[in-house]
Amino acid sequence: MKLMNPLFYSAGLLLLSTTIVHAQTAEINKANLPSSNPDNAEVYSPLPHVVVPAATFGNAPSDAIVLFDGKNLDEWTSQDKSPAKWTVANGIVTVNKSAGDIVTKRSFTSYQLHIEWRVPADITGSGQARGNSGVFLSDRYEIQVLDVYNNENKTYVNGMAGSVYRESIPLANPCKKPGEWNVYDIAYTAPEFNDDGTVKSPARVTVFFNGVMVQNNTEIHGFTSTDKKHFYQKHGAAPLRLQAHGDKSAPISYRNIWIRE
Ligand code: MG
Repeated sequence: MKLMNPLFYSAGLLLLSTTIVHAQTAEINKANLPSSNPDNAEVYSPLPHVVVPAATFGNAPSDAIVLFDGKNLDEWTSQDKSPAKWTVANGIVTVNKSAGDIVTKRSFTSYQLHIEWRVPADITGSGQARGNSGVFLSDRYEIQVLDVYNNENKTYVNGMAGSVYRESIPLANPCKKPGEWNVYDIAYTAPEFNDDGTVKSPARVTVFFNGVMVQNNTEIHGFTSTDKKHFYQKHGAAPLRLQAHGDKSAPISYRNIWIRE
């Protein structure tokens, strides 16, 4: 029997892996259709495949509004408008769970957002109680933050890091291990509403997670609560909100937050 040419063999492997990835994207896109999960129930498959991300990502371009550069929380408040009480030290800001969520003083409509987050190396807990936080676009629509390194923390896949919470499973899982920094680059299109409050066009989001696209112009179905039915309520420009999740695991940190309108 003639041995297979190694070049053909490599090409075959590459083709095979590409086919698997594309097949999974189609499978995830199908699972993300509202008709596949009309109640926004917790979904446990398909489990996005693990990707090893590249090492470094970008700083703010010239026209960005810098929301956190490591020095202070001057751009932020608590939700009750009192000063933000999260902890700034060593160029990073760490969630203060007892102080609640923080929101930007400025309001935004559609934008590009860069934000970096790190789960503590000694994180404990499991499922949604392991390094949970979240980036709330328009103060309402959560891109989940959670330790899901290497798919080791089992939870519902539409509640993983990179998901639109309880709506849209990420297309891959490039999450770094606890103790290392993760990066979200988010392109967000705010929803538009008619005068009577009905939705003219839903919100849409594209998310790059450590440089890997995990949401591709995904339609958001409404306020991302744990309720079965997600719905919209008319709103305009709104703050960006970061979540102080109430679980018992150690608080996560953020750094290098900037936005381009
Ligand atoms: Mg969260």
